[in-house]
Amino acid sequence: MKAAPFEYSRAADIDEACAWLAADENARIIAGGQTLVPMMAMRLARPTRLVDINRIAGLSYIRADGDAIAIGATTRQCDLERDALVARDLPLMAKAIPWIGHAATRARGTIGGSLSNADPAAEQALMAVTLDAVLNYREAGKTAEIKARDFFIGPMVTALPAAACLTGVRYPVWRGKIGIGFHEVNARRSDFAFVSAAVQVELGADGMCKRIAIGVGAATDFPMRLDSAEAQLTGTMLDAAAVKDAVTQALADIEAMDDLHASAAYRKRVAVSLACRAVADARASALGEKIHAH
Ligand SMILES: Cc1cc2nc3c(=O)[nH]c(=O)nc-3n(C[C@H](O)[C@H](O)[C@H](O)COP(=O)(O)OP(=O)(O)OC[C@H]3O[C@@H](n4cnc5c(N)ncnc54)[C@H](O)[C@@H]3O)c2cc1C
Repeated sequence: MKAAPFEYSRAADIDEACAWLAADENARIIAGGQTLVPMMAMRLARPTRLVDINRIAGLSYIRADGDAIAIGATTRQCDLERDALVARDLPLMAKAIPWIGHAATRARGTIGGSLSNADPAAEQALMAVTLDAVLNYREAGKTAEIKARDFFIGPMVTALPAAACLTGVRYPVWRGKIGIGFHEVNARRSDFAFVSAAVQVELGADGMCKRIAIGVGAATDFPMRLDSAEAQLTGTMLDAAAVKDAVTQALADIEAMDDLHASAAYRKRVAVSLACRAVADARASALGEKIHAH
């Protein structure tokens, strides 16, 4: 099948892109095209106009910004994968990126496109929620920001206004004795996750957990944080039994997705295992211990 006919506009700047979106409710931004183009080819998406933001200057960057790393919306996933600042200051993201699709899709796919697309299984969405990212966007000549935890509101649905263009994302950097863990289960490594878990921890000099963020992706309509487990585990030594108890409780009442790929019961069970493994890895990596591949 081929895409339905559409108009094409290459925006010179963000405000022009927003103006095209405001003028036509069926216009859509195209960034890497790795999701939108297949959707159009299958006629699951029929935008009347594509607004190309790829040539807008200043939308592709990775830079230190105070206590955060700021990343521009059209930054390619492959650039994040190879970036020394990301490897040093956002190790959780560096670990998760190779799990996103294939090298070829990462060469085109952008961070802004992945976040805007809001697939419940997208690794970038999980990173943004787990790391408390703040997303910036522009609409009708105004700049605004929204926390990642308020941005994702349903499967493929975000709080981004219809005529807005996501411009960048800021990820707070954790300093100190930091460790990370990431696991996902899928049919093949390049495929979308059935369930994923991401953990970042900060330990004190005595090995006690000072701060922990536990995110679970692909299990529910959008990535979630295990707030109650985080509260329960802060101030502990992250003993395996206590972690299992806290994670099991936090996931007990979730409404897990149920589809052809995985049942709700399976997703829930695997989410507990992956989150526990990710916490164990995070603790071990913060202590400088070797992590065994699973
Ligand atoms: C074979 C294959 C395997 C894949 N596997 C995975 C995987 O395992 N994990 C994963 O997370 N993803 C996967 N993807 C998706 C890939 O990561 C996409 O690149 C990504 O989801 C969309 O990014 P994009 O830049 O290509 O966006 P596009 O396809 O250009 O756009 C996607 C959507 O976002 C909107 N959009 C784009 N940029 C903006 C912006 N700045 N502001 C507002 N709206 C915007 C578009 O209008 C569109 O609705 C896979 C894709 C393919 C083809």
